[in-house]
Amino acid sequence: VEEEVDEGEKQLREMLARYRGVWVFIEQYDGEAAKVSWELLGTGAELAKSLGVELSAVIIGHKVEHLCDEAFGYGAHKAITLDAPVFANYRTKPYTDAICHLISKHRPEIILMGATGQGRDLAGAVATIVKTGLTADCTGLGIDDKRNLMQTRPAFGGNIMATIMCDRFRPQMSTVRPHVMPMPEFQVGRTGEVVREQYDLREEDVLVKVIEVLSDKGGKDIDIAGAEIIVSGGRGLMNKENFAMLQELADELGGVVGASRSAVDAGWMPHSRQVGQTGKTVRPKIYVACGISGAIQHLVGMQDSDVVIAINRDPEAPIFQVATYGIVGDLFQIVPSIIRKVRSL
Ligand code: FAD
Repeated sequence: VEEEVDEGEKQLREMLARYRGVWVFIEQYDGEAAKVSWELLGTGAELAKSLGVELSAVIIGHKVEHLCDEAFGYGAHKAITLDAPVFANYRTKPYTDAICHLISKHRPEIILMGATGQGRDLAGAVATIVKTGLTADCTGLGIDDKRNLMQTRPAFGGNIMATIMCDRFRPQMSTVRPHVMPMPEFQVGRTGEVVREQYDLREEDVLVKVIEVLSDKGGKDIDIAGAEIIVSGGRGLMNKENFAMLQELADELGGVVGASRSAVDAGWMPHSRQVGQTGKTVRPKIYVACGISGAIQHLVGMQDSDVVIAINRDPEAPIFQVATYGIVGDLFQIVPSIIRKVRSL
C-alpha cells in the first residue's frame, strides 16, 4: 500500500511539474485594458520571481497588439495574443474555449484574473472545463515552500481571512479584486517576447451575438475606486440630506463621497458608492470615515488607504483600530468645523 501511495504522489508531483509559468489575463474593452490587469501584472511578477518562472500577459481581442508593449512595461516577460474579429467583444464561450486551448498548449501553473464582471464569469467557466480549483475575490497571494499558491480571501461573511490552496491541480486560478494590489511602476522601453497564437473559431459557430455595447463611461456616477480622497459616511449621518455636508467637505478636499453598507441600504447613497466587502475596494491617499463603526466587512474595503481619518462619537468603535488619526466626538460639529478650517487655508 505504501508503495502505491508513493507511486501516486510521484505521479502527482510529475503532473504538477509539467505546469510552469504565471499568467495574467488582460481584460480589455475596445482595446483599452482594465487597470486591475496591470495591478495583477505587478503581483504576478513577484510570484513569478519567487517561482523562478516567466510572467505572461494573455491578451485576447481584436486589434489588441498595442497592449503587448503596455504589458511589458508593467512587468510581463511574454505576451500571448489571440487577435481575431470573433474576439472583439467579450463573450463567455469564445473566450473560455480560447483560454482552455492556450492552457492545454502552454500549461501555466498560475492564472490570475480581475474579480470584475468579466473576470468572474471567465475564470469560473475556464476552471470548470480544465477541472481545476478557483479562488474568487482574493485579497492576498503568496507562494509556499512547495511552490503552491497561497490565496487569501475573506470568508464567513468577512469574519475570518482564509488561505486557500489548490495543491493537487493545475493551473491554480484566482480572481483578485481591483485596487487591492498596488499598481506597478511602468518601465518605459521595457520589451518582451510576443507569442501570436491562433484559435479556429467562426462567428457563425458562436450562439451569443453582441447587438450593441452601451458604455457608462462619463455616465451617471463617478468611480470611487480610483479616487485619491474619499469622505465616507455611515449610519451616524442619520439621513440622506446630511450627506450634503460630506459632499461639501469632499468638494473642498477635491475628493468624492463614499458610504457604508448601512447608509446604502437605507437609500441615502447609491450602491456604486459603497465601500467594503460587497461594495468597492478603495485605496485612496486619504479616507475620512464619518459615523462609520468599522465592521470587518467595511474595513476590508478601505484598510489599505494611505491615511485614515475616523470621526466617531464612540471611543471604542473598531474604526479607530485602523485609523491614522481618530477624532472622538459628534460628526455634526466636527465636519462643519473641518470645512471651515479648510476654507480658511
Ligand atoms: P453602524 O455600525 O451602525 O455604525 C454607526 C456608527 O456611527 C457608530 O459607530 C456610532 O458610534 C457612530 N455615530 C452615530 N452618530 C454619530 C455622531 N453624531 N457623530 C459621530 N459618530 C456617530 N458594510 C459595509 O460598509 N460595506 C460592505 O461592503 C459590507 N458588506 C457586508 C457583507 C456581509 C456578508 C455582511 C454580513 C455585512 C456587510 N456589511 C458591509 C455590513 C457591516 O457588517 C456593518 O453592518 C456596516 O458596515 C455598518 O455600517 P455603519 O458603520 O454605517 O453603521
